[in-house]
Amino acid sequence: MESEESPEKKKRRLCLYNVQWESEFDWLQKVVGNATHAKCKLCCCTFSVGFDGKHAVSSHEKTKKHIHASESAASSHTLKAFLQHHVQFLATRLLSPKLSRCTTA
Ligand SMILES: [Zn+2]
Repeated sequence: MESEESPEKKKRRLCLYNVQWESEFDWLQKVVGNATHAKCKLCCCTFSVGFDGKHAVSSHEKTKKHIHASESAASSHTLKAFLQHHVQFLATRLLSPKLSRCTTA
């Protein structure tokens, strides 16, 4: 039982970014002007998919950095950003009543 895979298959052919991966990884983003790289919205970083293709995407998802980023994005970050935005908005209105005229209430 030998595998039929010939070493010929292991040609150095670069994988290109596949937009369909985005439906599977919602943090994935295309890098404009660089088809062999993908961007992670959570980590704000880019990584190469040129050698491993989709495998590079799934292995990025397993990195500590990414897991940490997705955890904080899921819990505190979103809520924090949401609250900060509202607190700032309220503070602006409360501290400078004149400014509230500018906003359409
Ligand atoms: Zn990431």
